[in-house]
Amino acid sequence: MKVLVPVKRVIDYNVKVRVKADQSGVELANVKMSMNPFDEIAVEEAIRLKEAGKATEVIAVSIGPTQAQETIRTALAMGADRGIHVVHDGDVEPLAVAKMLKGIVEKESPDLCILGKQAIDDDCNQTGQMLSALLGWSQATFASKIEIGDGDLTVTREVDGGLETIKVKAPAIVTTDLRLNEPRYASLPNIMKAKKKPIEQMSPADLGVDPAPRLQTVKVVEPPKREGGTKVADVAELVSKLKNEAKVI
Ligand code: AMP
Repeated sequence: MKVLVPVKRVIDYNVKVRVKADQSGVELANVKMSMNPFDEIAVEEAIRLKEAGKATEVIAVSIGPTQAQETIRTALAMGADRGIHVVHDGDVEPLAVAKMLKGIVEKESPDLCILGKQAIDDDCNQTGQMLSALLGWSQATFASKIEIGDGDLTVTREVDGGLETIKVKAPAIVTTDLRLNEPRYASLPNIMKAKKKPIEQMSPADLGVDPAPRLQTVKVVEPPKREGGTKVADVAELVSKLKNEAKVI
């Protein structure tokens, strides 16, 4: 079983994001970038499938600028076998990503694609679902457990009310939720080994996709600052504030 894992280079989750002065987006200059955390979980899951003898090859794919190669190398250092880098500068929206991934799926014929449930930069939560629709494949989103069967997968999904278990036919698209696993850190020897693993490069045009954005960002603003709390002297003051200021009782 071949597993394809799309990995996106995003602002590191520890970075405090700053909005650009002209409100056109967020500041990316001199900001630490890393693999999208949900994609690390996807890579980890694919590698565990390989270690369990259920997957034969794990391919990491990234669509992005030259530096997206570092994100692919991280996946290779974790244990992926090879990489595919679709070189593209500038923003790329989920539909274009899904179309490019469709082209790669048609070329590579994987049995399973594991994506993150969402990229923490655009918070779109769309790519996996769009890819599944474009391919006509089954989808199991927000997975917290994946069991590989004979021609099918049993996936436990994190839904509002608890956990839902579904069975889907292979080939399938699965998107990862936070509790699926805890991704490993790459060891130094594996980081060295990853330098020798192959990364194939291609362009969106090679896949017949026009990556031009279809959405226009009108503006990006910081969330409102949280107001500080106040101390109340007694219960009577608390009730009065809740009634008259917060107007919640
Ligand atoms: P999104 O729909 O943008 O929230 O992204 C969901 C998932 O799609 C991510 O967690 C990645 O697995 C995949 N993905 C999105 N954009 C890219 C990209 N540029 N390169 C590789 N994978 C991507």
